[in-house]
Amino acid sequence: NSFMDLNLSRPLLRACEALGYTKPTPIQAACIPLALTGRDICGSAITGSGKTAAFSLPTLERLLFRPKKVKAIRVLILTPTRELAIQVHSMVEKLSQFTDIRCCLIVGGLSTKVQEAALRSMPDIVVATPGRMIDHLRNSISVDLDDLAVLILDEADRLLELGFSAEIRELIRLCPKRRQTMLFSATMTEEVDELIKLSLTKPLRLSA
Ligand code: AMP
Repeated sequence: NSFMDLNLSRPLLRACEALGYTKPTPIQAACIPLALTGRDICGSAITGSGKTAAFSLPTLERLLFRPKKVKAIRVLILTPTRELAIQVHSMVEKLSQFTDIRCCLIVGGLSTKVQEAALRSMPDIVVATPGRMIDHLRNSISVDLDDLAVLILDEADRLLELGFSAEIRELIRLCPKRRQTMLFSATMTEEVDELIKLSLTKPLRLSA
């Protein structure tokens, strides 16, 4: 029960060590090996369970192992609120600190121009709230999700409670059909179930 057993490469193990993580939390121990296979994942997990690293570490590993041929957005992480997006972005930056993977933050309340420039530079990972991400995709011809490999829906129940259903559906339509999708939710409501059916293919179910 150590990060060493999870088939993560050296730069990611170093980052875990630098963060003081000695052993994976239950959701990490369950999620990381499964996510590394490329299967879709549906996880019941609350904040505090370590779910951010549970989806970020295998995603970073995938980027390290399958470098892109072209510069493109490879991973989109959608969160319900600006505050959560900031936290997730900060966690991804820390976990990727010993790699050359680039991550950018797209949320309301920050300069659209600055974010537009960040997106045009084609970061590997985008952490975003749905409304602001849609605005950029609608308004910029040079920003698209055509090469996306991984879509992550964090706190799916709150995404839906906050009324982002239409935006999420639109974003899913803009992603390639062949991709890995991971969805995490504290509660599994009927609406979350519908979103699972819409966005995941034969998902593996986890809870922590
Ligand atoms: P999260 O549930 O992703 O919001 O994470 C909650 C907190 O747990 C964050 O402050 C993480 O830095 C911390 N954390 C995540 N994974 C581990 C771990 N394996 N060992 C110790 N702390 C962790």
